[in-house]
Amino acid sequence: MLQDQDRIFTNIYGMHDRTLAGARARGHWDGTAKLLEKGRDAIVEEMKKSGLRGRGGAGFPTGLKWSFMPKESDGRPHYLVVNADESEPGTCKDREIMRHDPHTLIEGCLIASFAMGAHVSYIYIRGEYIREREALQAAIDEAYDAGLLGKNAAGSGWDFDLYLAHGAGAYICGEETALIESLEGKKGMPRMKPPFPAGAGLYGCPTTVNNVESIAVVPTILRRGGDWFAQFGRPNNSGTKLFAISGHVNHPSVVEEAMSLSFEELIDKHCGGIRGGWDNLKAVIPGGSSVPCVRGEDMRDATMDFDYLRGELGSGLGTAAVIVMDQSTDIIKAIWRLSKFYKHESCGQCTPCREGTGWMMRVMDRLVRGEAELEEIDMLFDVTKQVEGHTICALGDAAAWPIQGLIRNFRDEIEDRIKAQKTGRVTAAMAAE
Ligand code: SF4
Repeated sequence: MLQDQDRIFTNIYGMHDRTLAGARARGHWDGTAKLLEKGRDAIVEEMKKSGLRGRGGAGFPTGLKWSFMPKESDGRPHYLVVNADESEPGTCKDREIMRHDPHTLIEGCLIASFAMGAHVSYIYIRGEYIREREALQAAIDEAYDAGLLGKNAAGSGWDFDLYLAHGAGAYICGEETALIESLEGKKGMPRMKPPFPAGAGLYGCPTTVNNVESIAVVPTILRRGGDWFAQFGRPNNSGTKLFAISGHVNHPSVVEEAMSLSFEELIDKHCGGIRGGWDNLKAVIPGGSSVPCVRGEDMRDATMDFDYLRGELGSGLGTAAVIVMDQSTDIIKAIWRLSKFYKHESCGQCTPCREGTGWMMRVMDRLVRGEAELEEIDMLFDVTKQVEGHTICALGDAAAWPIQGLIRNFRDEIEDRIKAQKTGRVTAAMAAE
């Protein structure tokens, strides 16, 4: 279990002063100029050494991503864009950083921007996060007043401006190129890649888009060293991580833990166990609504990291938004609800997603009631495969994977419901309606 002295986020529950004075007392903004003195290359190398993988869901190595930015400007400005559009059902970790520990993020923006040659950074925050936006803006204002942002930021000799932009509540704006479009004042629709943002992103300039948590951990990693961060978790899955656990646990919470701890330890130590005990666990979505669900019995000993959840369980760590469901859950209906969400959030510009999400939702709708033929289960699975990997952005995959997880893990339940509907027998889930 992670020791208190190894926690990066020391005010995640808002128990302490979140102002600049409080942040400084907890060690933030300490010797920031000295960190920048190491130089761009040394900072990128240290980030690579830390093994940090992006905390926004995809898990791409952060240091490597930074190294894709041009070393020298060709005359175009460079930009860092922070993705604070946290909109995936179940995910609520960046929210805690922004409202309670905002200076971790702001200091991280300065350091990361310097490492990528950017004098300007934008934080794009989800429209519904009104209080978080206020807290973050207040912290940015404080930082400007203290000379930590603006000309010669924090006495580093680097001029740096940080702007907060807010969205209007569209999930798709969390996709990095849709986010860039929205920042530019256009409709939030994903762009075709290539070109990738590091070549042509915001206003056609080299841009890196990083998740809030990925940037907020940067100052501490540089202060304590990449090796310190890399000691937590298994190789290739290193560091500490915010886990957001919701659903049928006794105490839902957001907690910073070492990567690669077991699911059982995470739930027992931080959430007071499963509601009704471990035998009452039915299913878990371990990484936010877009990853496939896993049967409860397979999750108990699971290692909570990228490689295990993907390689061993066919799911994913995603944003580490862990959704726990006990035996009272109608799992078919739960996944149907996600299908409805993705259908609603599809931007509609590519056919497999626009048509497929609606098609899948309508079949799921009938499966919830058992009003379908058994053959339709395979047909639905086939359609998810036709959507997956055939769209401009990952929303198509995100809509397909929960259904694939349902069919792989709970096929018996779907079949039972169809058979029950045909024979007039009532299943437990239907009786509970
Ligand atoms: Fe839009 Fe869906 Fe295509 Fe993404 S996959 S670009 S959300 S239609």
